[in-house]
Amino acid sequence: MATSTLRLVWLYPDLLSTYGDRGNLLVLAHRARARGIDVEPMQVRSDQHVPHGADLYLLGGGEDGPQAVAAERLLDDGALTKAANAGKPILAICAGYQLLGESFYANGRCYPGLGILDLRSDRGPSRAVGEIAGETAPMLGLGSITGFENHGGRTHLGEAVQPLAQVSAGIGNDGVTEGAWAGHVIGTYMHGPALARNPRLADLLLAWAMGINPNQLAPIDDTWPEALRNERFGALSNAE
Ligand code: GLN
Repeated sequence: MATSTLRLVWLYPDLLSTYGDRGNLLVLAHRARARGIDVEPMQVRSDQHVPHGADLYLLGGGEDGPQAVAAERLLDDGALTKAANAGKPILAICAGYQLLGESFYANGRCYPGLGILDLRSDRGPSRAVGEIAGETAPMLGLGSITGFENHGGRTHLGEAVQPLAQVSAGIGNDGVTEGAWAGHVIGTYMHGPALARNPRLADLLLAWAMGINPNQLAPIDDTWPEALRNERFGALSNAE
């Protein structure tokens, strides 16, 4: 278990930072501090080295051009792949999620991804824009998830990853499944930001970063996140 300061690294805010994904860093820092856990949130731009030895890494979404540049720089740097191999938790959103796979499309070209997750992304028949919701695998203990998606890509999962959720609204990977996870790496199409709308996902990542079980984290007041979740799920059921 990590006893010193938790180092949370948000990678490439200059390239991958759409739809409020920085909020994921703020939510993690808030939920850790609310429990008396010291955190050091760090923002690492694409012209800087990815730090070795952080406790958790975050990637946001982005447009096709910055997504391709981000993948090239992360491949050159190599430290994120080493961190994943060492079991460090990673949360990657949309463009960040796609580039953790084997390959993805951007501006009509296929690019190599980091190969951290066994999946491939191509283009769909239309852009997936709007609310997304799903039911997660019971072993993750996350229940329902909610977010906002805006992407042209579709993602095809290989055998070495599990879907994060089965889609109940929206498109996600392909209209059936949403996101992926393997080990301590989670990818998702959910913006929103994802962790503000899914506090249990935030706590799972914190627990992984600390080397503990999520139920060892002290409860905190989730009145506001729960109200946000209820409002979002309510909007979806009213739209049916
Ligand atoms: N450029 C990617 C796509 O359209 C990712 C978009 C995003 O991150 N919102 O699929």
